Amino acid sequence: MSHLKGKVALVTGSTSGIGLAMAIGLAKQGIKIMVNGFGEKDAAIAAIKACGVEVDYHGADMSKPAEIEDLIKQTEKRFGSLDILVNNAGIQHTANVEDFSADSWESIIAINLSSAFYTSHHALPGMKSRNWGRIINIASVHGLVGSIQKAAYVAAKHGIVGLTKVIALENAKTGITCNAICPGWVLTPLVQKQVDARAEREGISNEAAKKALVSEKQPSGEFVAPEQLAALAIFLCGPDASEVRGAAWNMDGGWTAQ
Ligand code: NAD
Repeated sequence: MSHLKGKVALVTGSTSGIGLAMAIGLAKQGIKIMVNGFGEKDAAIAAIKACGVEVDYHGADMSKPAEIEDLIKQTEKRFGSLDILVNNAGIQHTANVEDFSADSWESIIAINLSSAFYTSHHALPGMKSRNWGRIINIASVHGLVGSIQKAAYVAAKHGIVGLTKVIALENAKTGITCNAICPGWVLTPLVQKQVDARAEREGISNEAAKKALVSEKQPSGEFVAPEQLAALAIFLCGPDASEVRGAAWNMDGGWTAQ
């Protein structure tokens, strides 16, 4: 168990994919976890509990500011503090701008960007009172570069990289840091949908679609593993990262080096 033992983390969207791996990785450090997200919550809770830490669940819809406020309040009430905030919940929708529905635009901006403002807005006073906190925003390579058919996603992810810098600067003289992690392709349910769509569109197998998708952007030709992203988050939570402030740290198989 590490120096992080006993701290409290909220990982939004932690019932699946990267968020679940983050929650399990942090739990293995002895950190208490508030789980959030839809879908298979019982399996996520069980996996985190198996790490030997306290865990609870709040089903806030991250597109709803009032529910986000309650999520932060309930986390602080249940565990006594909120020390580590991982803004991870996210969705995707792909279409050209002229075909992009207003509903899809609004939902992506709300869940992938505005939610991180609301969680931070409500969590920062408690962090400031303890002069310690870590805010980790799961952005994307799409916070650094664009891709076609992802207008809302790319706008939201560039936005969250900007929000990261402002929160880092406003708290630069405190024990609170704020950084963004920018993953390339990670094989989660969010990406599997894009693999399925490609397999159907091109009439190729699932395996071939995966290879085509990842090779197109990532020179390594390999997916990033959710556990690798969790290891980076744990580093950012630790004392060696206390002067990493406002970074947008890519882990992308070389995608953005090109
Ligand atoms: P995922 O679909 O596996 O998980 C998304 C999580 O967010 C789930 O727990 C889901 O229930 C939750 N969620 C969705 N809408 C929500 C809402 N309104 N309220 C509360 N929870 C909600 O996706 P993932 O790939 O693990 O993505 C996690 C984050 O990582 C996202 O922000 C995504 O943009 C980012 N990301 C993913 C990749 C990738 O290749 N998978 C790459 C870069 C960045």
